[in-house]
Amino acid sequence: MSDLGHVVRVAGPVVVVEGLTSRLYNVVRVGRRHLVGEVIRLSGPLTVVQVYESTSGLKVGSPVVDTGAPLQVELGPGLLGGVFDGIQRSLPTLAMEEGRPHARPFIRRGIEAPALDRTRMWNFEPAVAVGDQVATGDVLATVAETDSLQHRILVPPGRSGTVTACEAGAARVEDPVVWIDGEPLAMLSRWPVRRKRPVAMRIDPTRPLITGQRVIDTLFPLARGGSATIPGGFGTGKTVQEQTLARWVDADVIIYVGCGERGNELAEVLEQFPQLVDPRSGGSLMERTILIANTSNMPVAAREASIYTGITIAEYYRDQGYDVAILADSTSRWGEALREVSSRLEEMPGEEGFPAYLPSRLAEFYERSGAVECLGRDGRTGSVTVVGAVSPPGGDFSEPVTQYSLRLAGTFWALDTDLARRRHYPAIHWSRSYSLYQLGAWFNDRVAPDWDAQRQWAIRLLDEEEELRSVVQLLGIDVLDPSEQVLFRTGRLLREDFLQQSAFDEIDAHCAPDKQYWMLRVIRETQQAMAGAVGRGVAPDEATTIDRLGDVATMRWWPAHEAKERATALIAEVQEEVDRL
Ligand code: ADP
Ligand code: MG
Repeated sequence: MSDLGHVVRVAGPVVVVEGLTSRLYNVVRVGRRHLVGEVIRLSGPLTVVQVYESTSGLKVGSPVVDTGAPLQVELGPGLLGGVFDGIQRSLPTLAMEEGRPHARPFIRRGIEAPALDRTRMWNFEPAVAVGDQVATGDVLATVAETDSLQHRILVPPGRSGTVTACEAGAARVEDPVVWIDGEPLAMLSRWPVRRKRPVAMRIDPTRPLITGQRVIDTLFPLARGGSATIPGGFGTGKTVQEQTLARWVDADVIIYVGCGERGNELAEVLEQFPQLVDPRSGGSLMERTILIANTSNMPVAAREASIYTGITIAEYYRDQGYDVAILADSTSRWGEALREVSSRLEEMPGEEGFPAYLPSRLAEFYERSGAVECLGRDGRTGSVTVVGAVSPPGGDFSEPVTQYSLRLAGTFWALDTDLARRRHYPAIHWSRSYSLYQLGAWFNDRVAPDWDAQRQWAIRLLDEEEELRSVVQLLGIDVLDPSEQVLFRTGRLLREDFLQQSAFDEIDAHCAPDKQYWMLRVIRETQQAMAGAVGRGVAPDEATTIDRLGDVATMRWWPAHEAKERATALIAEVQEEVDRL
């Protein structure tokens, strides 16, 4: 038995070690620079390690030390606003240590950069008293992590007993603050990234996660605790979509995993988010955001770890009773990291060179989404919603990462190259996308009793317009009968004045559900008015070119709180104009 071995072979991120007695998934430190690695295979006397840092210059014979622990994340107050690499090393801390506070995320190899600040003081406000019986998940204390989020310190999984001492007031994350049966407990805890955190019970996701995006909330809504996948070819808007969601989604905590994409895109997020105002709190958006960056220029194996690091932190805030959204851009780059490591391991390749375990690994990620009842006596609930972008090569959705993702996710937002080329944004294609979540009852209850009926109307109309479009392209609009011409015109209103929504427009970037409802209602009533006119003999080209359609096109800039009033007025004006024909 030995916790010390030596390198016998180096193949990119994969290192073969001899003389080490280790366990699968233990973390090891490799070479004189103490590069961080993880045991991914044990084969006889050999231990195969994937190294999360560049292995260039690493020599055969270099020492390898087993740390005796699996890859784990640090959990506690101070994560919000943080920027970490794929194995949760703090990026700003590193940049500072290097004396380059404003430098792009950059890490010197083998460096230690703990995720949580060891010196920062937090005000620990106990929720328990000496003598209380506590068990896993019970709230021991709260800490105001940011102005808008109360961090709940919980009894960690597996612990229970009697509170024997408790210290209120200023404390650092490693200071003992509560004693259970005489055993000290600090705010900082750890959890292995590849294992899900336990919950009391999973519950059905029946509430939507509001995104403020019309095509999403109205047509293909996402459930709180659900999952979505966004496949799209190059330049179709995946990154813009993920960043728009990060900004507007109605969650308490946002975890953004920049996985294998260009570094400058994440640098933009880093520059923008602190300046953006969080619509929920009025503070900086960064105060509820955690960024995990493993960009294309960073080591490939850490990319594989980054999504587990992200989802473990997500579960940690979920367990405190919060709604968390985790956005990963892109899972294809993550799949490519799996493929690269697998090929270095000389494993038998599966579809398109991906390892045979690609689907099970993807499932392990998506299946950690969910709405749950948390452990702990207060019966709080929380959720993790997962949104993964997929970049299929050549935009071909038949490739494995897209195919497996769509089987796992409850919502499928298919980005379409043609729509993007025509600058129809978001380029989510209405006839190829879907949502399996049954959220109509919630919207009917909370927004308008005919929300779901109206949604069904819109979906049907878009379908019918699509069918008519091929006819019109061949033979012209005049071959359609009058009511079809009205339908055709309404389809265009729907696409241009409802589904299109610029992420960069100050007002239109976000559209509240109530405003979505009233915008759609205007289009529906407009169709009825135009249909009424052609029904009494008005020429279709007259009925479908009324002046008020110009006002329909400006609905997107209505102030949300005036939507109902404005819509009611516009509906009356449309009717009036049509009546005069
Ligand atoms: P991808 O990540 O799929 O390669 P991007 O998200 O970088 O594509 O989008 C490419 C470009 O498309 C953006 O720079 C932007 O100009 C445009 N775009 C995408 N989505 C939107 C949107 N919702 N609103 C406005 N413009 C968009
Ligand atoms: Mg992108």
